[in-house]
Amino acid sequence: MSTLVEVGGADRDDWGAAHPRKSWFDVRPLADGVFLIAEPGHVNNFLIVGEDRAVLLDTGLGVADIRSVAEGLAGKPLSVVNSHYHFDHSGGNRLFDEIAIHRAGAELLAKPAPDGLAEGYMRYTQRMIEEWREYKRLDDTYFHLVTADTLIRPLPDGFDPANYQIVPTTATALLDDGDEIELGGRVLRVIHTPGHSPDSICLFDERDGLLFGGDTINTGPIYAQLEDSDVEAFARSARRLAGLADSVARVFVCHFMRVDNPPGLLREIADGFERLLDGSAPFRDSADSLGYPVREACFDHFSIFIAGEDSRAGPAVLRTRGQLDRDSPVPLYYQLQEVLKEDIDAGHWQPGEVLPSEAELEAWFGISRTVIRKALDVLEADGQVIRQKGRGTVVAPPKLVYGAVAAARE
Ligand SMILES: [Zn+2]
Repeated sequence: MSTLVEVGGADRDDWGAAHPRKSWFDVRPLADGVFLIAEPGHVNNFLIVGEDRAVLLDTGLGVADIRSVAEGLAGKPLSVVNSHYHFDHSGGNRLFDEIAIHRAGAELLAKPAPDGLAEGYMRYTQRMIEEWREYKRLDDTYFHLVTADTLIRPLPDGFDPANYQIVPTTATALLDDGDEIELGGRVLRVIHTPGHSPDSICLFDERDGLLFGGDTINTGPIYAQLEDSDVEAFARSARRLAGLADSVARVFVCHFMRVDNPPGLLREIADGFERLLDGSAPFRDSADSLGYPVREACFDHFSIFIAGEDSRAGPAVLRTRGQLDRDSPVPLYYQLQEVLKEDIDAGHWQPGEVLPSEAELEAWFGISRTVIRKALDVLEADGQVIRQKGRGTVVAPPKLVYGAVAAARE
């Protein structure tokens, strides 16, 4: 049916032994002529087939050959529509000749990705793969939610995360709100839903009541915290989609495992944005997939991330310093421990407070764990911090007291 993209890695044998899956993509039919081509844990792409031609809605991360999979399933001329320009939806664009995106996304799609994004995402992927084993163990023992469809897979054979690149691509067609994409016996209507990004669209197959929600509708965190997000526009887009709910039967979303949702989700999300804007939503501090701190408004079937005061560059105390100076003769670990030490001395972190995790420091500064550990070693030897099992790196009590306690113990 479709080309198998083999997953690999040395540990294939103990990989989700209960539900072995050999392909990077989870491919399954969702409705007549509609297929999910998911990269589980990452992103969900959709193939929508008409009598004459087919559309692939989004091309995923680009770590495996999604074109051969989609063509194998479609068996007819195939073109790409991007739900928006973000790399996790357009990573496989380079494999295709015909790419359509909303007018507002064309330039963004052709622009190089921000520095460190590819590396940051691969670190996230690595963490997911590492921590997945524990999730699977708990699921096998208690919850039994994971199926063959929702297995996290190791990266495909021959793919080297160190070489992952986000390749800018050029759109060959521009979409506008209300455009209709004719597939033969099936029409997809373009609904421009700015908010997550300026170019976000949904596709609506009115005949079958299928709404493809892009990143506007999701079942985990809805990302409204990004630099190109607009929370008020997002709220308007969500309300507009809620207005369609009566003619929608199923809502397919681009992230997380609950791909297929009832139309009630549209109203829930519109209401959620309303509560977020009127200040009645419950918030907590959280972090996005790259480790940046965000504020999270939590609801029953989804949450909404918005930017915290200092979201884009780590906590305020770190942001004021900017990045470490890679050209400096002072080693990076030494620069990092200086930054942390000054912040501790300035009282930005109080004794007993937990410092950002190694993963967070890694994401904010774009430096390796080895460098981070070396910096923490220096601080620990200095008596500035204490490493506590299960808690992390904690700011030590003021030196004098700490010295007295240490002396008393000896
Ligand atoms: Zn996105």
